Amino acid sequence: MDLYGWFGKALRVNLSTGVIKEEEIEKTLMMDWLGGRGLGTRMIYREVPAVCNPLGSENKLVFAAGPLTGSNFPGSGRFSVSAKSPLTGTIFDSNAGGTWGVRLKRCGFDMLIIEGAASTPVFLSIKDGAASLEDAGELWGNDVFETNHKIISILGKDVSVACIGPAGENQVKFAAIMNDAHRALGRGGLGAVMGAKKIKAVVVSGNKKVRVAHPEKMDLMVYESDKWIQASPITSKGLPEFGTPVLVNLFNELGVFPSYNFQGSQFANAGKISGEAIAETIYAGRKGCYRCPVQCTRMVKIGASTIPGPEYESLWALGPECGIDDLTVIAEANNLCNQLGLDTISTGVTIGCAMELEERGLLKTGLKFNDAVGLLRAIKQIASREGVGDLLAEGSRRMADSSGFSQYSMQVKGLELPAYDPRGMQGMGLGFATSNRGGCHLSAYMVGPEALGVPKMVDRFSTGGKAGLTITQQNINAAVDSLIICRFINLAVSEEYFARALSAATGVDYRPQDLHRIGERIWTLERLYNLQAGLDSSFDTLPPRLLEEPIAEGPSLGKTVELKPMLAEYYRFRGWDAAGIPTSKKLQELELEEYSC
Ligand code: SF4
Repeated sequence: MDLYGWFGKALRVNLSTGVIKEEEIEKTLMMDWLGGRGLGTRMIYREVPAVCNPLGSENKLVFAAGPLTGSNFPGSGRFSVSAKSPLTGTIFDSNAGGTWGVRLKRCGFDMLIIEGAASTPVFLSIKDGAASLEDAGELWGNDVFETNHKIISILGKDVSVACIGPAGENQVKFAAIMNDAHRALGRGGLGAVMGAKKIKAVVVSGNKKVRVAHPEKMDLMVYESDKWIQASPITSKGLPEFGTPVLVNLFNELGVFPSYNFQGSQFANAGKISGEAIAETIYAGRKGCYRCPVQCTRMVKIGASTIPGPEYESLWALGPECGIDDLTVIAEANNLCNQLGLDTISTGVTIGCAMELEERGLLKTGLKFNDAVGLLRAIKQIASREGVGDLLAEGSRRMADSSGFSQYSMQVKGLELPAYDPRGMQGMGLGFATSNRGGCHLSAYMVGPEALGVPKMVDRFSTGGKAGLTITQQNINAAVDSLIICRFINLAVSEEYFARALSAATGVDYRPQDLHRIGERIWTLERLYNLQAGLDSSFDTLPPRLLEEPIAEGPSLGKTVELKPMLAEYYRFRGWDAAGIPTSKKLQELELEEYSC
């Protein structure tokens, strides 16, 4: 079969039996699901029972690159991992940049399926087409940086390592998979799934060329996309000059920058920890992922070390959410999470929740807002599950439930919320409530239209039109996560270019509306899986604080999320019934009749 963009090959590794085999992926499957999140969703739906224990051997990890991975298209050096999440119980995908995805593709594989569970620690090495399971006894117990360093010193510089740290080994429910040392597949606890399977790392290195069907057309798309990136103030100035923390001042001024476990919607010392403050104090250069002109990663100097600085979400979760306004402490906490293999958002929000429960006298956690020493101590305790860390390692929902005060847990479907107060952005609230993977900002990213004016500015306080816009964003983002391209690139480059680049890479004709349909099919399949897992419409909600407690001051004064009317409209526009179940008419229209809930 003549294939471009894709190799049409998957590698299946059974950790229980040690059997490793190559499989063909049908071209129609790749055309329909693209790669990344799409292929991962379809595989998990087919192969992982929705009611299984996410930390049991029935769960599988699907690593997938996309048809543009390994091409020159900007921001295309990504890959995703899909599994059933131990934190949310939902189907889950997480993606990361760096070089790992490109190296997987250069091994000649679009997808890697890891199933079963090993009896002793192993790591998987894939070099070009050859794969082997190796003893990881010596690596078990090592942190992410040590693991990365040791593997590279044995196998050479031309490898990329995706691994877990102690948090994953100890099955912390929000453990990350870390690749290229500092890149995180952070959300959803997929690192705990690796830990439960006793697979410490997956190492890739390859030289196969990814063939493009129409190289001249692709060159033109790359050239024009680079021009759009240069023309956008976000991707040519904001992100390169200040990194993602450029958002701190903006969101604080809008009154949607949560603090103290979402008790506040602004942070008094935001100016001390903003992107501009980083540039003036600890900034030490910038870096980025494979083939990306934006290079948004901040390098920062802390003592004698130069380390990657915290991204916007991490900076917020380990900072204002816990009442911390010291950049050095936040950067150290961020680095510690990376080293131990923890999701920074869930870590910070869980600690913030523990701080509020302690201050209200509802649960003994020993943690207080503004306590930098307590923050750093708690991070280490979570990763090792020591003392109170064992309870925090279960995530904020289970921790708050243990005291009978679940309302103080700022999460949706168990996933801790990120750095936006949806009371001041109604569409963001709907996006959080309906996200298939729980409290996730990226599924809809309504920040674009509600705060950044991308693709166009809409009234952030209005509920009108938000259902349709949220659905459009969710669908297109599901397709972008399958191509798989960095979300920051589509702040500058439209889906029309993505469709043309995809056509140039694969030789298959795609139009922008095809991407929307592919995204809708992915979204719907995820929904069907979650329904099978028992997550009905009662899970499409927000913490009571966001629905019932109006914002007390600032530019978003008096606002709560008016979820009910938006949600009813959302179900209707999606073609679902009033209980949030996709109708058979909708499944027929999407040619998904063979799938069900
Ligand atoms: S914009 Fe930043 S995160 Fe996205 S690909 Fe470029 S360097 Fe990586």
